[in-house]
Amino acid sequence: MIRNVKCESCGGALKLDEDHPISFCPYCGAAVKRDETSMDELRLKLKYQDMKEQREAKEEREQAKSNTRQFWFAMLGMFGLMLFLIIVYLIIR
Ligand SMILES: [Zn+2]
Repeated sequence: MIRNVKCESCGGALKLDEDHPISFCPYCGAAVKRDETSMDELRLKLKYQDMKEQREAKEEREQAKSNTRQFWFAMLGMFGLMLFLIIVYLIIR
């Protein structure tokens, strides 16, 4: 991951590779250390992403469960209705 940063000693704009702990300014040659807070932010973002995905997966599972429940309630309703009709038929015939 490349970040645009400013060199602390000369103020020149440079690209910092976050995979490497230290980069060198192309203008003055000063060593520029990777910003640790940005890595923490990145980790936090990844963690948040994980949580979001887990929540979405959970919601999907809940949705599937509720669909299944609705299906079985419908089946039970149909079965009950049929049973009722059969009983009515047996009584009135
Ligand atoms: Zn510099």
